[in-house]
Amino acid sequence: MLDENCIFCRIIKGEIPSLKVYEDDKVLAFLDISPVNKGHILVIPKNHASNYLESDDKDISACAVAVKKIGKAVVRAVEADGFNIGVNTKKAAGQIVMHTHLHIIPRFNDDGFRHWPHKQYEEGEMEKYKEKIIKEIGE
Ligand code: 5GP
Ligand code: ZN
Repeated sequence: MLDENCIFCRIIKGEIPSLKVYEDDKVLAFLDISPVNKGHILVIPKNHASNYLESDDKDISACAVAVKKIGKAVVRAVEADGFNIGVNTKKAAGQIVMHTHLHIIPRFNDDGFRHWPHKQYEEGEMEKYKEKIIKEIGE
């Protein structure tokens, strides 16, 4: 279940070199070539899917468990103060490589990065969003 035109599938196959830090039967993790902070890791399922929503639940679970293990190791290895887990899903969210991947970004108290800007709800709007989202979750 690999896509020959996908750069991360080619990394899985070994056709493109990568610096691997972890591998099991479902997951591969390697250093991001262009890190937000040094030690930035990408965790990917070995089965090709174009984004997080398209991946099998078992692959997502395996990635989540690997992120916990690797995140802990990265924080220790680079003496970070914390880390962000990021999953850019679709172009609008900044996804460039269309193979599911989770970013582990080590963070430092003084790295200067700011978090998302925050918006405000109008009166009664928050409840409407709650209802709309619950309806889509279903069951
Ligand atoms: P996205 O924006 O799709 O969530 O992130 C894709 C990430 O993949 C980027 O942070 C980028 O630096 C990384 N990346 C793209 N091509 C390669 C590559 O060939 N090797 C490695 N190690 N990382 C890559
Ligand atoms: Zn792929």
